[in-house]
Amino acid sequence: MMLLSGRKASKALKETLKNKIVKASEKYSKSPSLAVILVGDNPASLSYIKGKKKACELVGIDYKLYHLKEDVSQFELETLIVELNQDEQIDAMILQLPIPKHLDENYLIDLISREKDADGFHVVNQGYLYQHKKTIYPATPKGIIGLLDFYQINVEGMNATIIGRSNIVGFPVARMLMDRGATITVCHSKTKDLKSHTINADIIVVATGRPHILTKEMVKSGVIVVDVGINRVDGKLIGDVDFDEVSKIASMITPVPGGVGPMTIYGLLENTFELYLEHQESKIKSF
Ligand code: NAP
Repeated sequence: MMLLSGRKASKALKETLKNKIVKASEKYSKSPSLAVILVGDNPASLSYIKGKKKACELVGIDYKLYHLKEDVSQFELETLIVELNQDEQIDAMILQLPIPKHLDENYLIDLISREKDADGFHVVNQGYLYQHKKTIYPATPKGIIGLLDFYQINVEGMNATIIGRSNIVGFPVARMLMDRGATITVCHSKTKDLKSHTINADIIVVATGRPHILTKEMVKSGVIVVDVGINRVDGKLIGDVDFDEVSKIASMITPVPGGVGPMTIYGLLENTFELYLEHQESKIKSF
């Protein structure tokens, strides 16, 4: 069994990105910048944004945090997003999810302009994705594909089963695997007999937030497993896969932590850099 280490892959990829950023920052006399909007003090979000900040600093992206109170109003948050949309110094932004229930998440995500949408959640960016056009890909699916590329895994002709159909992970990753020539099956909470969809899969991506939803009885020997899930159980971070047992059968598998997580952050860095390049080039064209 081979471990698909997102830590190792992202470390190498960040070095390459850092070099690109150094060169581009000289050329355009400006570093890329990412604004992160955090509402409240959700401990998981605080930990994620700490990782994002560290990664930005490492590659030379200016990281700017807007930390708002839990009870911030919809209007205040909208005003901030509109200001950041117009701020020439900001190339990219994200709204760290989840946000408190009194705020309209879908509206706020769509308010972030397509040109600054570092998470790739904007309806236009997602529309481009589903039309197989160049776009800003959602960070986690982009990170997963980056991980497969890093380990030179060619999915063409493979049977790929994706468990989970969210707009930010399951559905886009299915589309991206299909674009690479895999034959896809997408499962969700209404799927009957999950095992019948996983047992013949060559590659399985699990993104449900349900610990141990994928067990050894459900997979064939030599399967490749990508575990996106993040669950805190008894104070320990685990994925959606019964790693101890499935790793005995799989040919390759991602660990949790250290698998998809670091690659998601890397996806965010790359998206920020791509948006920055778009801005710099459009400034030059408009002169
Ligand atoms: P989500 O929006 O809650 O979606 C979960 C998906 O799982 C839904 O499509 C749901 O089906 C499906 N599901 C739930 N129970 C199921 C079951 N018993 N059988 C089959 N499918 C089932 O979650 P998400 O945002 O996609 O995230 C999924 C997991 O990945 C979470 O643990 C999240 O924390 C983690 N995550 C990790 C990273 C990372 O960087 N490592 C990034 C993003 C998310 P329905 O659509 O029918 O409800």
